[in-house]
Amino acid sequence: MIDLLGRTIDYARISVTDKCNLRCRYCMPEQGVELLSHEDLLTFEEIQRVAACFSRLGIHTLRVTGGEPMARRGCLDLIRMLKQTEGIRRVTMTSNGILLRGRVAEAKAAGLDGLNLSIDALTPEVYAAVTRCGDVRDVLAVMQEAVDLGLPLRLNAVPLRGVNEKELTGLAALARDLPVDVRFIELMPVGCGASQAGIPVAEVRKMLEAAFGPLQPDEAPHGQGPASYGKPAGFKGSIGLIAAVSDAFCGRCNRVRLTPEGRLKLCLNRSAGMDLRQMTRAGCTDEELTETIRREILQKPPRHGFGENIPDRDARKMNQIGG
Ligand code: SAM
Ligand code: SF4
Repeated sequence: MIDLLGRTIDYARISVTDKCNLRCRYCMPEQGVELLSHEDLLTFEEIQRVAACFSRLGIHTLRVTGGEPMARRGCLDLIRMLKQTEGIRRVTMTSNGILLRGRVAEAKAAGLDGLNLSIDALTPEVYAAVTRCGDVRDVLAVMQEAVDLGLPLRLNAVPLRGVNEKELTGLAALARDLPVDVRFIELMPVGCGASQAGIPVAEVRKMLEAAFGPLQPDEAPHGQGPASYGKPAGFKGSIGLIAAVSDAFCGRCNRVRLTPEGRLKLCLNRSAGMDLRQMTRAGCTDEELTETIRREILQKPPRHGFGENIPDRDARKMNQIGG
């Protein structure tokens, strides 16, 4: 559907849990994490019902995320249910990968159309320093499983000053050697990200061009996201740069989010969000639910307002909002 600012909204990110098996320094605190109880979470049937409303409004592509989606029991069953929902054409997942080890074939068989794996470093010590507990060898094993199965794969990294700076060319080289896209996402000042130092993607580009030569613009379609893609000579995959902060793409924003507790969020950085769980549990009809979502989406905020003193900033952590 089209919002009041003329933006086509055709993509939803569905967060299925605020739980995670890692504690990435820019996303979650190391300790003292308060989590939702199971009753607070939308059930799989409730998520499917909202997905069906989305599809009636022209949102046919879904990404399952979190927290760590695989930390919710039965996540692959949900993938299957979403894929079978009328009007839903594409279901993908963003994951840190660890709990997917040995299960990528199962995920593909459930209907998964693509996987984004977060991997901020290749050196085990640096990866462990970013995630505070993960083993990068698990992620690399999952990457290989996906490549072997021909599952479309993208690797995401958040460049952090003085933390994984020296890892970035090694990560980019994965796109030289494998048919995968490697994307660098600018650190957003959301939750724990506000206390970290990111690296602007313009600087990342310079670093990569110094190592691999010029990034030739790559205009081929690469999914629903806001990354701009380029390819150094001889690369099998592409390099994606996501200028989430330095070049806000809000004017082209195509997405809405569903939080684990069933709030429809229209912008990552805004606290507002219609409580769809309350509506569904109060017994609303499918028509009422669809119409409410339609009215909400029409009012999608014009911009995220990072760095601005906006009154409705969402002060929660990324794992709670749904990344
Ligand atoms: N746990 C899964 C994962 O890490 O892929 C899915 C959820 S995670 C919140 C989704 C993505 O958000 C990850 O690629 C992560 O690197 C990114 N992310 C989290 N906090 C961020 C921040 N403050 N700025 C930019 N990206 C962030
Ligand atoms: Fe977990 Fe993903 Fe957040 Fe890292 S970025 S703590 S893997 S939810």
